[in-house]
Order: sequence, then structure tokens, then C-alpha cells
Amino acid sequence: MLDSAQEVLRLQSRGDATAVEIARAAIDMIEATQGSINAFTHVDRELALSTAETVDQKRRNGEPLGPLAGVPVAVKDVLCTRDMPTTCSSNMLRNFRPPYDATVVEKIRQADAVIVGKTNMDEFAMGASTETSAFGNTRNPWDVSRTPGGSSGGATACVAAGTVPLSLGTDTGGSIRQPSGFCGVTGLKPTYGRVSRYGLVAFASSLDQVGPIGWSVQDVALLLQCISGYEPRDSTSLNHEVPDYQAALQSSDLRGMKIGILREALDIDGVDAAVRQAVLASTEVFRDAGAEIIDINLPHSKYWVPTYYVIAPSEASSNLSRYDGAHYGHRATQLAPEKSESLGPLVATYCQSRAEGFGAEVKRRIMVGTYALSEGYADQYYNQALKARRLIKGDYDAAFSQVDLLLGPVSPTPAFPLGEKVDDPVQMYLCDLFTVGANLAGIPAISLPAGKDEAGLPLAIQLQAPALEETRLLFAGAAYQAMTDFHKLRPDTFAS
Ligand code: GLN
Repeated sequence: MLDSAQEVLRLQSRGDATAVEIARAAIDMIEATQGSINAFTHVDRELALSTAETVDQKRRNGEPLGPLAGVPVAVKDVLCTRDMPTTCSSNMLRNFRPPYDATVVEKIRQADAVIVGKTNMDEFAMGASTETSAFGNTRNPWDVSRTPGGSSGGATACVAAGTVPLSLGTDTGGSIRQPSGFCGVTGLKPTYGRVSRYGLVAFASSLDQVGPIGWSVQDVALLLQCISGYEPRDSTSLNHEVPDYQAALQSSDLRGMKIGILREALDIDGVDAAVRQAVLASTEVFRDAGAEIIDINLPHSKYWVPTYYVIAPSEASSNLSRYDGAHYGHRATQLAPEKSESLGPLVATYCQSRAEGFGAEVKRRIMVGTYALSEGYADQYYNQALKARRLIKGDYDAAFSQVDLLLGPVSPTPAFPLGEKVDDPVQMYLCDLFTVGANLAGIPAISLPAGKDEAGLPLAIQLQAPALEETRLLFAGAAYQAMTDFHKLRPDTFAS
């Protein structure tokens, strides 16, 4: 089964399987599950097999191999790949083939990973269910009538379905952690600036981050190791040495560690009883590992969602202005004559290209963001949100002067049925209640599988740490997984 990168590496070093055999198995499984799960927007069998063949050749020749040698990895379709389309699951970029690789893609290629394809997502990463994709929605492998979460729903569903052991997602307001929680896998959003954004198609530039998704903390640490580091082509990249993340996983002794539980979050209306129970049960596990549990309150957490939903659309409206059919993206060819006449052919081309290329949620964000930034309103909305963001960051600073980590839920509920929220944006935005804080503050956070509810749907817990303390998240996450088996649960559809 392709559920462990470590196992895939061992199989090859023992000579029990070649990279080509593993790549073939992965692609076979992707093809077998694509009809029911729809996790991919693009799969390239030939390319994967030829990369795998290169890895096998290197091994045969005794050449040095990278840390991901022969490991099949899926890449969210918002990351530029020079040999595959990069669509952002939008009609606007349906035919876009980037002339270069995103830095993270370049890095995993250098690590000898085998990229199998691009994964489905909410259009331009705007959403929490993968239902805004122009390529149809992805389904949750635990229950195909439910969403896998979003926006990295394809990236988490392809791991949960057993087709690849690792994938790359992106997280602007929770898009790695929430779908990881919905799909019962482990996902980490790194510190803002830890991983290069070069070649990541921008949604909200001050919030976006690329991160790893896998079953176990060990696998997630392995991929994080490969993608982290300073990038001169990203002006917000942090120039800090990358620690040895895997070395952090040797012990499960949490003595001396203080974990703050966000108890108020558990009492919010709409938080599912099973979600609350999973978080409370995890405190016992952390206590047994030696950690001290302390109640913590983040006083401005009620402003997380409103602040995020001003800042993210504002940045999106600016970033997406480049898609006008002339500079970038889909170009309308048949202009409506009355539009052409009233606006002139150039402006009519812009308007119609954007009308045809973008879906409803993206248009909504552009309109909200344009309004929030416009003269006369910016002080009430955008500038106000920046002030709230500073208060939110201040809450975290105060909390982390008392505790090492924060523990809480990932989402208010487990995976919800397809169609339930897609026509109700406010309900969809409320899915982000517990995740957007980390993005606003730029801190790292991890989602860990924490059991199943009565309907058999995965539950999850979230740990958050101060900036650049990924090691602490991995350390506590590995201790939790050493003491529980939740990350070993698999859906019935697994690799079927
Ligand atoms: N659900 C959030 C949104 O719709 C977060 C998306 C993301 O992290 N890319 O904006």
C-alpha cells in the first residue's frame, strides 16, 4: 500500500521494488479511483514513469539519491510545473502551461520525488470544500457523498484514497489543515516565509504558504525538510537555517512542555460534540506524555473570520487583476456587440474574459476586496482589518509567553455533505473559524487525525506554535501519534 513514504524508500533500498514499479502502482490506483474521488486535474503516466526510470538508473549506477527517491508525490494545481498544466482549477487558466517550476516543485524534483500529477482544488484556492473547482468537485474517500474539505481537497483526498503517500498543498486560511482533518491525514502549514512562494499562483500574498500532507508526522517532516529554506526570489522568504526536522521525532517524552488548550473555542455554538470530545480526549494523551495542560484564551479570536474575510479578498482582488485576457488567462473571442460598442473593444475584452473565466466565488471575492480597498471605504474595512490583525498577533505573543503550543479543534464539524454549504458563502466561511488565526499571525500549525465520529468520519485536532517552531509541532505531533493509532485508520475505499 502506498501510505508511507518511509516504506516506499525502504522497499527500494532493500531491492523489493523499483521506482518504476511503485510509480506504476500509484498511477494505476489514481486511475482506478479518479472516477469516484476526482482528486486530480491532471495525471501524467509517461512523465512519472520516465522520472522513476531515472531514479532506478541512478540507483543501479550507485549515484547519490535524494531523500524522496522514487516516492510518488502529488502537487496541488496552484503550483507552477513546467511540464504539466497549472490551472488553479479555473477556466481562466485552463490552458496555462507555465514556463518554469515553482521552487517547491524544483526542490522535490531535486530530492528525486516522482511527481504523478496535479490535484484538484477550489478555484484559485478560494473555498473550503473543493466544490468551486471548474473540474468538478472532489469526493471524500471516507464517504463519497461528502466533501474532502478545501481548498486542498484533491491533495488530501489523494493521500486518503491511498494513491500517493505524500502531497503538497497550500494554506491561506486553513486549506491544508481543514481538508487534512476531513480526510483523516496529517497536514502542516509552515511559518509564513519558511517555504518559498515563488511559483505559487498568488491568492492572498501575506497569508499564502505551501506545506506537506501525509499520513504520519514522520512523512510530513520528511517533505517539509525538502521544501523549506531561504529563497531570494521571494521577498518575504525568511533567511533562517532549516533545522533537522526528523531529528525532532526521536522521543515521545513531553515532560516540561506546556500546552495551552483553547477551551473557549470548544464552547462556541455550532461546534460538533464529537469534535469537542476529540480535543478533550487528546489532552489526556498529552498529559500522559508528560505535558502540562493550561487553559488559554485568545481575546480577539472572534475577529479572526471578519478580519480574514477583509484582508484575503482585498489581496485577491489585487492579485487577480492580471487575468484580463490580454496579459494573462482566458481571452473572450466573441465579444457581445453592444458591450464592444459601449465599452470599446479593449475594455469589453477585459470584462468579458473575466466574466467567462472566473467562477462565482472568485467573482464574489474580487467584488468584496475591491470594495474594501476603495477610496472612502478603505479606512472602515481594509485599514481596520490591518489593525485587528495586529491585535490578533498580540494575543498569540501573549499566549506563547505562557505556553509552548496551543491545542484546539481544526474545524467546527467533520466533513459535511456535498452541496450543503456551497450556495451559502457565510456558512462556508465559518468553516475557517479555527484556522485563519495562524495565517493572520504567520505562525505554523498542524492538523492531526484524532479518531472517528459515530458516522465513521475522521476527527482532528490542531496544534499551533510560535513562528519558526515547526520542530515543536512535529515533536508533539509525533508523541501523539506514538501514543494513538488514529493516523493508522484507513477508509474502506482505500486503494480500491
Ligand atoms: N477557506 C478559506 C477561504 O476560502 C481558506 C482557503 C485557503 O486556505 N486557501 O479563503
